[in-house]
This record gives sequence, C-alpha cells and structure tokens, in this order.
Amino acid sequence: MDVRTIGVVGAGAMGTGIAHVAAMNGYEVVLRDIEMSYVEKSIKNMDKFMARSVEKGKMTQDQLQATLKRIKGTIALEDLAGADFVIEAVIEDLDLKKEVFKALDKICRPEVVLATNTSSMSITAIAASANRPEKVCGMHFFNPAQIMRLVEVIRGLGTSDETVGAAKALAESFGKKTIEVKKDSPGFVVNRILIVGNVVAARLYEEGVASIEDIDTAVKLGLNYPMGPFELMDFTGIDVNYFVMEYLAGEFRENQYAAPQIVKQMVRAGRLGKKTGGGFYSK
Ligand code: NAD
Repeated sequence: MDVRTIGVVGAGAMGTGIAHVAAMNGYEVVLRDIEMSYVEKSIKNMDKFMARSVEKGKMTQDQLQATLKRIKGTIALEDLAGADFVIEAVIEDLDLKKEVFKALDKICRPEVVLATNTSSMSITAIAASANRPEKVCGMHFFNPAQIMRLVEVIRGLGTSDETVGAAKALAESFGKKTIEVKKDSPGFVVNRILIVGNVVAARLYEEGVASIEDIDTAVKLGLNYPMGPFELMDFTGIDVNYFVMEYLAGEFRENQYAAPQIVKQMVRAGRLGKKTGGGFYSK
C-alpha cells in the first residue's frame, strides 16, 4: 500500500522522535496525545532539534518550516482515520496499549498496518485486541528515534509476511536499518541483552561494589559503550526501564531481570531521569 500519512499515537519521547523522523522524510503525520499541551511540547521539541541543525548548516529554515507543516497535532483519535500506517508509542502498559489498538481498529481502514513501539511486550497480546492480527507488528525504534539507526521489526503470532515487509520498507524509507525478530519473544533482541546489564549494574551499586560514576566509567572505557548503564537509564527513562525489567521477570519467571530496589525507589520517588530532571545523576 502506498503510505503517505502516518498516524503516531503518543507524543512523549518516542512518539516525538518517530513523528519527527517521518515528517523529515516527507510523510504527512497526525500526532495524537491525550492533552494538547503534550502535543505542543512535542512539536516545540522537534522545532528546537531542527533549529540546531539549521545553526550547523545541516538543513535550511525553509526545510524546517516545511517539516513542521507536515505534522498535525491532535487529541482526537478519530483524526487518524485517514492514516495509511499507524505507529503507537503510548506508555509501556499492556492494558493501555490494548485499549488503543481496539480503538484504532475501529477507526482505521482494514488494510492499514498498526505497529507498536513497545520495548518488550507481547505483540500477539496487543494484536488480539484488534480485529486484524495479520496487520499488527512491532516496530521498535530507539531513543532518540531521529538519530538511532536501528528498528527491530517484530512478528506477532499472526503477523503476515506482507506486514513485516511494509514495516521494514517504511523504516528503511526513514533511513533506518532493520532487523527481523522472527518470534514474539519478550524484550525482543536488544532489550533482552540490555536489561540484564542494567539490572546487574544496579545490583553492583546496591552491593557497594562500586559507585554509579565508576560503574558507568567501567562500562564506557572497558566495553567501549557510548554511555554507562546509569546514564542510559536516566536518558531513556527509569520508569521505562522498570516496566521492562518487571515485564521480563514475569514473562520468563527469572529473577535475573527483576528490578532492583534502587530502580523501584527512583520510580516511587518520581525521579524518572531526564524527563523529570531527577535521576541517578541529578538529586
Ligand atoms: P513517554 O512517557 O515519554 O510518552 C508516552 C506518551 O503517551 C505521553 O505523552 C502520554 O501522555 C501519552 N499517552 C498516554 N495514553 C495515551 C493515549 N491513550 N493516547 C495517546 N497518547 C497517550 O514514554 P516514551 O519513553 O515515549 O515510551 C513510549 C513507548 O515507547 C513505550 O512503549 C516505551 O516502552 C517505548 N520505548 C521507549 C524508549 C525510550 O528510550 N524511552 C525506547 C524505545 C521504545
């Protein structure tokens, strides 16, 4: 199917990046959140992001304006009725995602692919709430979606080859490299590997083996990673990491994924990292 208009549900960190990358690549975008102020903040962030590119001479002011013009913000899910492809990026809560897919299934044309940007959760479970399991897949972008090059395309039990192909083609048209996750397995590939490392880092800190700063330094200099685990949790959101840890621990019934106390406490205190201004590095 010819994709011209992309619906993005959720205008947080990921929805912003996905909507932005789509608009920068010439697609019309309808961006939906539950409050207009969230959508406005999201579009403002895209504007700021591009203003830096204009300053660096990487894009022109006209290109910036043309990109913003392609994005329509809304709080009405019905405004996604004309979308040719939808990507959901609401918070990592299975019941909420199911609710969103049930509503999208009623609003969107039957041939439209409904993709979820879940970091860990079952594509099959999300697809079951829509009456088109063959048209549902995972499209896992990384943060910030404007910059990170990978998209994991994930099959649910009923996902068709055609849907996987459409999701790969769309991500590639954004300039991304895709990998196919052939089975609906919790955490897919990247987070299954990453989350264990984040859990171990938090436990090392709790056990008093090393400080947060030293653990990050060890991982950066010893493993040549661009960020340490605590920096990365602050950047991606400590709440998102917590949800994924608990989800993987429950799905696999393995303690190696379970959220350590320090991570739980940060979430309970509302210190979620960069998005709230308080995280492992800012008190
Ligand atoms: P976020 O908290 O920054 O944004 C979520 C947004 O969804 C909020 O603006 C919220 O108001 C909105 N929302 C809630 N209910 C909604 C609804 N019914 N309709 C529309 N919008 C609604 O979260 P995020 O970090 O952008 O994560 C979004 C999704 O992407 C999650 O599934 C997360 O696991 C996944 N993800 C996150 C990262 C990351 O690094 N943060 C990376 C990859 C994938």
